[in-house]
Amino acid sequence: MPLLRPSLTPCASFHDRVSALAAGRVAPREAVALAAHAAACPDCAGTLGHERRFEAMMRRHANHEVQFAPAALRSRVAQLFDTHG
Ligand SMILES: [Zn+2]
Repeated sequence: MPLLRPSLTPCASFHDRVSALAAGRVAPREAVALAAHAAACPDCAGTLGHERRFEAMMRRHANHEVQFAPAALRSRVAQLFDTHG
């Protein structure tokens, strides 16, 4: 069941996908696999809770295009570092 990257530990795989999971942007089967890990791993369950609170905050404070904002923000920050770094 190669839903998660086999080269990463379960926790690393979870962290890799937790933002997408909190935003509802993973396939149902992957969501099930990630939820199963969170159910067995308190650390990752805590991370998921944090991501879900962040996602809820973003939804409250922005319009329906918010799901594209984090990537745009990251690239903008990267440009700033390129300019000044
Ligand atoms: Zn974990």
